[in-house]
Amino acid sequence: MEQNSKDLLNEIKELRYQLEEAHDTINAIRTGQVDALIVKDDTGHQLYTLKTADQTYRVFIEKMSEGAVTINRDGIILYCNTRFSLMADTPLEKTIGMPLASFVPESSQNKLRELIHNSWEEDNRQEIILKDGGGKDMHCMFSCNTIELDNGIALSIIITDLSVLKETERQLQQRNEQLEESRANTEKLNNTLEATVRERTGDLLISREHFKLLTNNILQMTWTNLPTGVVNSFNQRWYDYTGLSKDDTANFEWSQVVHPDDLKETLIRYETSLKTGEIFEIENRYRRHDGVYHWHLNRSNPLKNDNGDIIFWVGTATNIEDQKREMDRKDEFIGIASHELKTPLTSLKGYLQLIASYKKEELPPVIKQYIGKAGVSINKLQSLINDLLDVSKIKAGRLEYAIAELNITQLVSQCIENAEHVYPAYIFEYEPGQPYMVKGNAERLEQVLMNLVNNAVKYSQNNKIVTITTQKHGNNVRVSVHDNGIGLSKDQQSKIFERFYRVEDKKNMTSGLGMGLYISNEIISNHKGTIGVESEPGQGSTFYFELPLV
Ligand code: ADP
Repeated sequence: MEQNSKDLLNEIKELRYQLEEAHDTINAIRTGQVDALIVKDDTGHQLYTLKTADQTYRVFIEKMSEGAVTINRDGIILYCNTRFSLMADTPLEKTIGMPLASFVPESSQNKLRELIHNSWEEDNRQEIILKDGGGKDMHCMFSCNTIELDNGIALSIIITDLSVLKETERQLQQRNEQLEESRANTEKLNNTLEATVRERTGDLLISREHFKLLTNNILQMTWTNLPTGVVNSFNQRWYDYTGLSKDDTANFEWSQVVHPDDLKETLIRYETSLKTGEIFEIENRYRRHDGVYHWHLNRSNPLKNDNGDIIFWVGTATNIEDQKREMDRKDEFIGIASHELKTPLTSLKGYLQLIASYKKEELPPVIKQYIGKAGVSINKLQSLINDLLDVSKIKAGRLEYAIAELNITQLVSQCIENAEHVYPAYIFEYEPGQPYMVKGNAERLEQVLMNLVNNAVKYSQNNKIVTITTQKHGNNVRVSVHDNGIGLSKDQQSKIFERFYRVEDKKNMTSGLGMGLYISNEIISNHKGTIGVESEPGQGSTFYFELPLV
């Protein structure tokens, strides 16, 4: 008995050894290490060659990334490669001999059955789910072919894992959906945008039509030009007035319309404005279609973007021919009237002097007082008439006077003495410094200075201190008159040197005709000097002129 169990144990050991050997052999066959076997049986040694698949194909099938299965008519797996056992997550020895259907979940059973059934007739393929051990389904493609084996027909199935493909497909689908969503969003956005553009275009069209209507119906000629100076549009009035066509103005030059005598100054100012970006303004003559020239006030304003860069200029030309004629007539009238007034005034002054110097009887004091008052009025009248005459002379280019070297410091001192006498209520602060010599006409320069002093007094009723200084300024001497009066805005400052210009200020209106600064400017320019003002409303003003030092 004991002997028996010992024998049995030995036998089991032997069988186990043989089983391991068989495993190794099968593995060797699979991997192509052997293709023939010598098996010892009762009849002696037998040579078995592996005929079912030659070595190359065996190795190939073993290395394939697809699963390979061979089944018989009953659906039992006769053979499978390692890849299939991995896909099914089942060891090789437990797959061979098992029905293929046992590796397929319930949901794919019918499909598998049908596929196998049909594939015995002809080659077939079908998507089928393979159970993998982890319980996860694996989408696979089963491709079936019948093969002839020694012992009958079998069905070979190549199983391709579609999960990567499926995942890619899924991702692709997802992307497609996202793409579709984005497309829909884009379309919506596009529609909104189109609607906005349509609306804006409509608005733009209306505002362009408005603009066109406006520009074509105003009395002025207008145009726009680029920062380079090239004019790129004119209104209808321009074409009507000049008689030029669109072709004529394609390469427009100012010489086409501006009077030859005004051209040089026009171009200088135009170029300056283009360079500096300052408003361009000039009075010049424009040729009409019939060749007649009319005076125009020519202005160009720059249009700037948020960065302050000029985008384009808007130019206008206003016909001022009638005003010019009126002005000329007025000048002519003033010239004649002041002349006519001067003669009786001179005799009136003479008679008054005669009365004042009447010696026969002592004049009663009250008459003397009247004579004094009449003298003051006559002086005022005379200075008014003189101003009017000066304006006429300037217009006619006949403001002439003798020039000599003179000490301006001294001249200022004399004027201040005079002013202190005329305006006893005012304090004139002046510290005469070193003598400054200039070339000029003493009477005319005195006229200028007195005009500045008179204005300083007139326009500073509430603060009666006027400060006068003479200072060297480079190669010039600058005479300044500073008051603490009402002051002037920038806009007013740019106009006060014009003829007859007076600031419209009902509160501070004083008598005057707006001639003083105009005449002063002419006199100083004739002396090759400059006149100017620094001021702020309510902060007083400093009027000054500069003359070249000898
Ligand atoms: P008028 O004083 O006779 O009106 P002017 O030619 O001397 O003429 O001056 C022109 C204008 O300039 C004045 O009407 C006044 O508005 C302004 N103005 C001149 N001087 C001063 C000043 N010192 N302060 C304020 N405004 C002044």
